Amino acid sequence: MTAVDLECEVVVVGAGFAGLSAARQLARDGVDVVVVEARDRVGGRSWTVETPGGFHVDRGGQWIGPTQDHLQALADELGVSTFPTFTTGEAVEWRDGVRHTYSGLIPTSDHAAAAEGVEAILDLDLAALEVPLVAPWEAADAASLDGQTLGTWLGAHVEAPAARDMLNVAVKAVFGAEPEELSLLFTLFYLHGGGGLTNLVRTTGGAQERRFVGGSQQLALGMAAELGDRVVLEAPVESIEHGADQVTVTVGRADAQRRVRGRRVIVAMAPAMSVRMRWSPPLPGVRDQLAMRMPMGSVTKIHALYEHPFWRDQGLNGQLVSNQGALRSTFDDSPVDGSHGALVGFIAGNECRQLERAGPDARQRTVLAELQRAFGPRAAEPLEVIEQHWPSEPFTRGGPVAYAVPGALSGFGPALREPIGSVHWAGTETATEWCGYLDGALSSGVRAAAEVLMALGYRGPGRGRGGSDGDT
Ligand SMILES: Cc1cc2nc3c(=O)[nH]c(=O)nc-3n(C[C@H](O)[C@H](O)[C@H](O)COP(=O)(O)OP(=O)(O)OC[C@H]3O[C@@H](n4cnc5c(N)ncnc54)[C@H](O)[C@@H]3O)c2cc1C
Repeated sequence: MTAVDLECEVVVVGAGFAGLSAARQLARDGVDVVVVEARDRVGGRSWTVETPGGFHVDRGGQWIGPTQDHLQALADELGVSTFPTFTTGEAVEWRDGVRHTYSGLIPTSDHAAAAEGVEAILDLDLAALEVPLVAPWEAADAASLDGQTLGTWLGAHVEAPAARDMLNVAVKAVFGAEPEELSLLFTLFYLHGGGGLTNLVRTTGGAQERRFVGGSQQLALGMAAELGDRVVLEAPVESIEHGADQVTVTVGRADAQRRVRGRRVIVAMAPAMSVRMRWSPPLPGVRDQLAMRMPMGSVTKIHALYEHPFWRDQGLNGQLVSNQGALRSTFDDSPVDGSHGALVGFIAGNECRQLERAGPDARQRTVLAELQRAFGPRAAEPLEVIEQHWPSEPFTRGGPVAYAVPGALSGFGPALREPIGSVHWAGTETATEWCGYLDGALSSGVRAAAEVLMALGYRGPGRGRGGSDGDT
C-alpha cells in the first residue's frame, strides 16, 4: 500500500444518481473529481437487469412523473425515452377475502370508507403544505408533529377499518414502512416534496406515470460514461479521515487497500449507510445520531413475467390493492410494445420482514397464489419470477428510502445537509423536493456540488474558478 494512490480535488463516495450527478457537475466545472463506488456497477437503488429469459426489469427505482424536472432533463439529454404506465381497464381490490374491481385511484367496495380515506388524504396533503421543504424542523408546530407518528394521526382521524387499510397500503408502498414507524413531521415533509400523497400514489398524473424505455439504470450509465475512468468501481470505502481542507478516503479490505486524497469529500448515500464507514475524527454526535434515527424501509420488489399481458384481455390494468397477504400492491410492468407481460408487486413493511425468514421459494409461492386470486389461474404460471429483497443488499440495506422516526427531524434535522469541514452530504434523503426519489437524488448531487465549488473558490456552477488571476 502506498501512502496515497490517487490525488484529486474532490472525492465522491457512492455512484448512485446523487453521487454521479454531483461528480458530473463538478467535472463540467473543471474540478478534478474521483467517484468511488462499492459495487461492481453504478446506479445504486436504480438497477436494470436482463433476466435469464432475456427480459429487462428494473429491480429498484423505475417510474418518473410530472414535476420531476431534473430526471426528465437528464433523460432528454441522454436520449432515453419514456412511456406511460399501462392503466386501461379496472383495478382489483382484494379485501377481507373478497375480490372486487374498481376504476380510478380509490378502491370503492366500501363507499363510505372510500370517502373517509379520500378526506384523510386531502387533510394530510393540506397539512403537508405547511411544512417547509428546506427546514421541516422549522414548521410552526414541529415539536408536536414530530412527537407523533403517522399511525397515531390515522388512529385519531380515520375510523373505518377499510379506509385505514387503504391508507396503510399507500404508506407501505411509498415508504416501505408501517404508519406507526413514521414521524408525522417527516411524513408531511415528504408528501410536500412530492406534491402530496395523492400524487405519490397515482399513476396517470402522479409519481408512477411513466417508465423509461430500457430501464432507469441507463441514466446512471450515461452519467458514468461522461465521467469515464473518474468512476472507480468495486471500491468500498472503509474509512474517511477528514481535516479542515483535506480528506483521505481508504478503499478496500486491509490486505488490498487504496487511498484517495482530495480537498473535499461528498458522501452520496442514505444516512444509515454513511455511518457504516469509520470516520476520523468521529462524526459529530448529532450527525451520527440522526443517522440512527433514519432507518431504511423494508421492501422486496417482485416481478412475474408472462408470455402475454393476459389480464389486459380481461379488461384489467394489472393494479391490485389488497388488505391481506404479502403483496399489497401491483402494477402492469410490461414493456412498451407489450411483447410480453409483466406484473410488478411490492412486499413492504411488516410483510417484508415476516417473509424474509420464509426464503425465496416460499415467498414466490405466496406471491403467485396471491396474483392468481387477483388475476386468475394464468397468473400462477409465469415464465420467470425475479425478486429483489433490498434489505439484503450490503450497500443499501433496505428501501425504497430512509425515513425519519419521531424526534429525528426536530432534534437533529439540520445535521442532514450541514457540511462538516471538508465533508459534504448528498443522496436523495437530503433533497428538499422529491426526497426519496431519483429526481431528489439528482438535485441533491447538484446542490452538494455547488457547495463544494463555493468552498474551493470556484465562482459557482458553470462559472469557473474565482481568484485574482482571472481564470475561467
Ligand atoms: C424497490 C425500489 C423502488 C423504487 N422506485 C422508485 C421509482 O419508481 N421512482 C423513483 O424516482 N425512485 C424510486 N426509488 C427510489 C430511488 O431508487 C432512490 O431514491 C435513488 O436511487 C437514490 O439514489 P442515491 O444516489 O441517493 O442513493 P443510492 O442509489 O443508494 O446510491 C448510494 C451509492 O453508494 C454506494 N455505497 C454505499 N456504501 C458505500 C461505501 N462504503 N463505499 C462506496 N460506495 C458505497 C452504493 O453502492 C450506491 O451505489 C425506488 C427504490 C427502491 C429500492
